[in-house]
Amino acid sequence: MNIILLGPPGAGKGTQSAGLVERHGMMQLSTGDMLRAAVKAQTPVGLEAKAVMDAGELVSDEIVSKLIDDNLAALDAGTGAIFDGYPRTAAQGEQLDAILAKHGRTLDHVIELEVNVDALVERITGRYSCANCGALYHDTANVPAKEGVCDVCGSTEFKRRPDDNEETVRTRMEEYRAKTAPILPGYEARGIVTRVDGMADIDAVAGQIDAVLG
Ligand code: ADP
Ligand code: ADP
Ligand code: ZN
Repeated sequence: MNIILLGPPGAGKGTQSAGLVERHGMMQLSTGDMLRAAVKAQTPVGLEAKAVMDAGELVSDEIVSKLIDDNLAALDAGTGAIFDGYPRTAAQGEQLDAILAKHGRTLDHVIELEVNVDALVERITGRYSCANCGALYHDTANVPAKEGVCDVCGSTEFKRRPDDNEETVRTRMEEYRAKTAPILPGYEARGIVTRVDGMADIDAVAGQIDAVLG
């Protein structure tokens, strides 16, 4: 099973991917996470991507598609892939088709997380994560059971993304509207798109996604 989680920044793609990994043993392939790892390691890709990411603009199609190709090559054939934050442009969509074919995989579902745009700024400015394991939290909507302690790994260190500020969020939302949303009709024509209500609470969204996966 190979699926795309599609939705604007803050829609819940990372949160739902983590749930799918846990419940179904799938692998999350997040180009955002891969790029942040490259920035941290100061690789050539990271050095090139950093300023673009800080501005909320899109990194080049070639860079992100190569990251996806490399990560998919390393993935066990029996393990399903969740594409989180990729593809984001028409060119990336075409590159993904070629990459999947090369690795003998097919795209089963595109799940669109439908969210109210007004909620996104609050979701993103309230987002933080565990500095040790990356578990995602939110200042009000999704706090650890024990304040200041990660539910997953027990760490007490948390971090925020430099691009999770109100100004950058506006650019990221505009990039989504202009470049990413237009790739949906092509998937609709293939009959593989399902919309889920991303405004529901996290467990309810997970339930809707599981219903799609069957
Ligand atoms: P969010 O989950 O909030 O939408 P991501 O973690 O997916 O954010 O992406 C963070 C940043 O990384 C993006 O704003 C963009 O600069 C870059 N990025 C991530 N994925 C892609 C992609 N598929 N194409 C181009 N740029 C990307
Ligand atoms: P994306 O990967 O699409 O950018 P995230 O999964 O990182 O989105 O979620 C953005 C923020 O919103 C996080 O702080 C997360 O804890 C919170 N969040 C995710 N899903 C929901 C939800 N269904 N209801 C309320 N808050 C949510
Ligand atoms: Zn943790």
